[in-house]
Order: sequence, then structure tokens, then C-alpha cells
Amino acid sequence: MWWNEGVSTLKGVGPKRAAALGELGIRTIGELLEYFPRQGSYLDYSQVHTIDELATDGSKQLFKATVYRIRNGMGGHGRRYTAVTVRDATGYADLYFFMSQRYAAQKLKPDMQVLVVGRVKQGRVTKAVGEVTVQVLDEAEEAQSLGILPVYALTGSLTQKQLRTWMKTALGMAAGNLPESLPLDLVQQLQLMERYEAVRTMHFPQSWEELRRAQHRFILEELFVLQCGLLYYRKHTSDGRTGFAHAQDGPKLKQIKEHLPFKLTAAQEKAWQEIAQDMQREKPMHRILQGDVGSGKTVISALALAKAAENGYQGCLMAPTEILAQQHYATLQEYLAPFGLRIGLLTGGMRKKARQDLLLNLQLGLIDILIGTHALLQEDVCFKKLSLAITDEQHRFGVEQRAKLANKSQQAPDVLVMTATPIPRTLALTVYGDLDVSIMKGRPPGRKPVQTLCYGQNMRSQVYAGVVRQVKAGRQVYVVCPLIEENDKVDAHSAEQVYQELIEGYLKDIPSALLHGKQRPAEKDALMQAFTQGELKVLVSTTVIEVGVNVPNATLMVIENAERFGLAQLHQLRGRVGRGSEQSYCVLLAGNDSPEVMERLQVLRDSDDGFYLAEKDLELRGSGQLFGLRQHGLPDLRLANILRDTETLVEARRLAQLYVDRWSEEEMRHLVELQFGDRFSMIFNT
Ligand code: ADP
Ligand code: MG
Repeated sequence: MWWNEGVSTLKGVGPKRAAALGELGIRTIGELLEYFPRQGSYLDYSQVHTIDELATDGSKQLFKATVYRIRNGMGGHGRRYTAVTVRDATGYADLYFFMSQRYAAQKLKPDMQVLVVGRVKQGRVTKAVGEVTVQVLDEAEEAQSLGILPVYALTGSLTQKQLRTWMKTALGMAAGNLPESLPLDLVQQLQLMERYEAVRTMHFPQSWEELRRAQHRFILEELFVLQCGLLYYRKHTSDGRTGFAHAQDGPKLKQIKEHLPFKLTAAQEKAWQEIAQDMQREKPMHRILQGDVGSGKTVISALALAKAAENGYQGCLMAPTEILAQQHYATLQEYLAPFGLRIGLLTGGMRKKARQDLLLNLQLGLIDILIGTHALLQEDVCFKKLSLAITDEQHRFGVEQRAKLANKSQQAPDVLVMTATPIPRTLALTVYGDLDVSIMKGRPPGRKPVQTLCYGQNMRSQVYAGVVRQVKAGRQVYVVCPLIEENDKVDAHSAEQVYQELIEGYLKDIPSALLHGKQRPAEKDALMQAFTQGELKVLVSTTVIEVGVNVPNATLMVIENAERFGLAQLHQLRGRVGRGSEQSYCVLLAGNDSPEVMERLQVLRDSDDGFYLAEKDLELRGSGQLFGLRQHGLPDLRLANILRDTETLVEARRLAQLYVDRWSEEEMRHLVELQFGDRFSMIFNT
């Protein structure tokens, strides 16, 4: 298909530019065509102002001007900036550029004609413009520039003009050559804009109304394809197998419950009842247990596993890391082994002989409960009679992995997913389809809440002095650095930088280590082990520690560049401290202490409720990045916003149901083949 050809086949795209496009995720012509301007990023030339017309109310505005001069400066806290003064017949304005945006500024030269979009405020002398996008105009472009122009999110050396030119070439290839990707009857019935027309409109709309229609089409398409994938997947995993009907709680389970080291909270009791009821039905359970960090989910999984065992079946619990698997193993041993339940631990690093013995016992039914990591998914892990499959901290596992585990039984086992990520209903619908949801709010009694502090860079040395104090007092500390994007090289690099800086400075004589996602699992586990055992005092890491590690002696967490994280994620991270009896602290060290940033971080200082924070986060940041679907093994949504587009989501789901029921596998594959890029293909690979 022509849209699967590399972008380098376009005129003017050599290896270097192809690489730059690659950084934007654009490898093929199709992906280029689908690289839509960000929401709201269009320039409407009818809205061009003169400088004296600009309102200084901080709103985003557009104006045309000439570059007058460029200078570099240093602001508060040593922040470098580039200021570009521009003018028109009516006055002067200063454009401010920070960080990587400064590259864009440095390309400007005096007398260039530029088109500027930015937030305008009153500066000391002139109007000051922040969050600037500039575009150099040439005469030709200016002459024909009536109308609405796209503004793309770009990196490095690429320019808006290049992208627009390539886009036009690609659109030329698509004209008359781009098959409709949605079912034709659906396009007709919903009166959707036809595909080629919609692609063209997304890039070069003739009116805002036309643009809105094009966006609607793609939002629906995105949600429709995703829902088709999810339903298709479900059809292929749960087909035709009957489930297990577990009996009501017997004497053993009652005994186990009585001998727990604590009494279940009301929230735990309710969740347990829901799960127990599900397990007693023959229809396979598909339930997600959402509970804030520290809400006590582990004990619930222990009871469910015990229930499976009491009925003469087997249960398994899959954790995302070896450390966690070991932690669960120890806990379950404590709760269940005294009552005769036999528990096994399967990890990746096991010796061959031990592994063989374990697997043999499993197959013979001499093990009731198996705990493990991804290693549970291996082909040769065979149960005698698996009736319950639990995955913990589910967002680390993909959809396929969940299915693979459930497929380790002749009959359909009950499936329980435990997650600490509070997920709004609409997203639950997207990600889990018809999973039932149990929610545990609140926490078991007896814990001191973590004290949260928000600081700017000016407090950095005091904060690290505090780190040293905690270590001297015998405590341990986490330092977390942002992960800009999964698999992003920049990320490991930034943690590394912070680490280097710290061990040469503040942490010179303190046993510390760096932990990040690029390390081998064995290496990570060894580091975590050393930290758990107190050999390491400070752990500098990316967000790999987010998942439920339990080191009660860790009483301080410093989060660098906290403004880069969502509130929900910060809350998750914070849950790593405050696990012992000592007062714990979480310091949010913002790289940028603008009022907006501080205000957002203070929401976290003032609340300890994960669900509330998740809602706040949605309000403040939108749903797009927040609960990255990729964490769930699903493609990210590019246009759809499940908060805003709930209605479309529900509609897409209804339609998907219709088509998935009646489509053959081939028709299903056809739908995916017609999509640009491969972001959807993974969910259909069952
Ligand atoms: P999470 O939901 O984050 O997985 P855990 O299951 O690790 O939470 O539980 C957190 C801590 O709370 C554990 O130390 C556990 O022993 C304790 N805990 C759980 N339930 C209760 C309870 N009902 N009363 C007191 N402590 C509890
Ligand atoms: Mg847990």
C-alpha cells in the first residue's frame, strides 16, 4: 500500500529529515498524513492582530510583525532565556523563549517577517509574549495565506513550511487513491465526512465548521477501531468455555479470615463479598479491584486464592516485578501456609532443577497457589486445575498477557485484576469493556499520612540537606526523576544526570544507586533487593519504582521536576513512603515554580485521596496522557478525549458491537490494514 512507503520517498525528504520525522513518530506517508495539528493549533489569518490591538490578559493571540533584535538573558533561578523584540507599525513586543524553544528563537534574524502566536501579558516596557510559536513568513506564502493554516508540533530542525509542503505532496498522492477505512454503510448512515476529504480538511480546513466535521469523523473512527479491537479480543478469549462455580466460604476460609493479623475494613469486606459472590457463580468473573495505594488489596487476593484452593482448584497471582512477587509470596505464606495451603513462587531467575520440580508439583496439583512474574506466562507452566487468575498492578501488563494467563485452563477461570490507578468509569469502559468494578476507598487505620511539601529550585540545596539528615537518622530515601516518555532515551539520561550530580555532591558519602527502566530485570531486582535490605540508602530512579514496593524504612521521597507528572502519578509515587510507623515526607521539587505549577502541585499537598486527585488531574490536564492507554497495552488515542467525547465513545462501542458480531476475521483484519501506521494492529493479534 502506498501509505506504508517510507517518508523518504517524498521529494525533499532525505535521510536527515526522515530521521527528524521519525522522532515525531512519522515513518510512513500514512503516518505523515495522520500527523494532525494539535487541537486548536491552526492559524486563522482573519484573526491576525496588530501589536497595539493585543489584549494583555494572558490569552493566546496571533499577530504579524518584523524581527527587530534578539538577545539572550538570565532570569530568576538562573533560567536562561532568549528574548526576541518584534515590531510593527503600531508598536513593539518582546517574545520570550525558554529551554528547547530557544532553538526556534535562534533561527530568527532581524528584518524577518514573522507570524506569532502566544500568550500576551503586559511586560515592564512592552507587551510580553510567552508560550510562543513563531513562523517565518515569506512573501509568496503571505500572498496566498488567506484561510486557515495548520501548525504542527515539531522538533529539532523541521519547519512548519516543510511539513506543510510535504503534507500537500502526500495529499496529492492520496487524492482519488485513498480507500474509505470505515464501513461504507456506517459513513452513510452517520453522514460522516468521507476519508480523503477528512484528511485534507484536518490539514487545510476551509472553515472551522468543516474542520469540526473532519475531527468528529476521526474521533469516531479512532474509538470505533479501538472498540472493535477490544471486542474482537474478548470474543476470542472468552469463547465457549464454561467457568468454575466455587462453593460458599467453608471452614478453612473462615479460619483464615479469623486469623488475619487485622480485621478487614468495611471497604475491604465489601470488595471481598463482591469477589466471593462472583466466584460462586458459574459465569467467569471479570472484575477489576481498584484501591488506592496502601488500601490493602493484597489480603483480598489472599482470600480469593484461598477460596480457589478450598474448592480443590488452583489459583495464581501475577506481579509485574520479581520484588513484588517475592513480597506477595512472603505475605501469602504468612496468611495461608499455617492452614495447610501450599504456595509456590516462580520467577525468571530460578535454577533449572528447582523450576522443574515446581512445575511438576504444579501439574500434579501439589501446589495450590502459584505466585510469580511474567514467568507464569511461559508455555510449560501448566496447572492441574486453574480456577482463578489474578494480576496485580495491572497497568504493567498488556491486554494479551491477561488473556494468556486466563488461557491456562480448560475451563474459563475467574479473572481478577488489581490496580492502584483510579480509573474513571468512561475509561474503564474503554479499557476493560465490560469488566465489573470493585472500588476500595480509604486506608486501613493506623497510618500517618505522608506530609507533602512543594518547593521551587531555590530550595534545592535545603531539600538535599534534608535527604542527608534522613539518612543520618537511619532512614532511606527515594529520588524520582521524570520519565518523559516510555522508551525515551532522554529519560534514562536525565535520571543519570541527576544521579551523577548527586553522588558528586550532596550524596558523596552515602551508598546510593541509580535505577531505571533500561537496566536488565536482574539488575533492577538486585538493586531493589539491596535497597529493601537497607544496604543502599538512597535510590535515584525513574518511575520504575511506582509499582507497589514496600520499604517501610523509606521515609522521604524527593520528586524532581514534579511538574512533569500528573497528580495521579505523583500520588502513586508518594505511596512508596509512609509505609512504616515514622512520619514520612514527600517533597515535590518543581523545575519551574510558576504560579500555575505551584497551584497544581498544592492540590497534592492538600489531598490524600487518589480518586479525588485523578478527577482533579482530568480537569487540569485532560484525559489524553493521564491514563496513557499504552500502559494498558492499548494504542494511545490521538484525537479522542474520553472525557469530552463520552457520547461518541458510547456510540462507537454500540457500533463496534454490531460489526464485530457480524464480521468475519478477514473483514476485521481489513479494518486494521486500512489504518495508517501500526498502532492498532497489536490488539488484534490474539
Ligand atoms: P495495596 O493495596 O497498595 O497493595 P497492601 O495490600 O500492600 O496495599 O496493604 C498495605 C498495608 O496495609 C500492608 O502492610 C497490610 O498489612 C496493611 N493492611 C491491609 N489491610 C489492613 C487492615 N484491614 N487493617 C490494618 N492493616 C491492614
Ligand atoms: Mg499492592
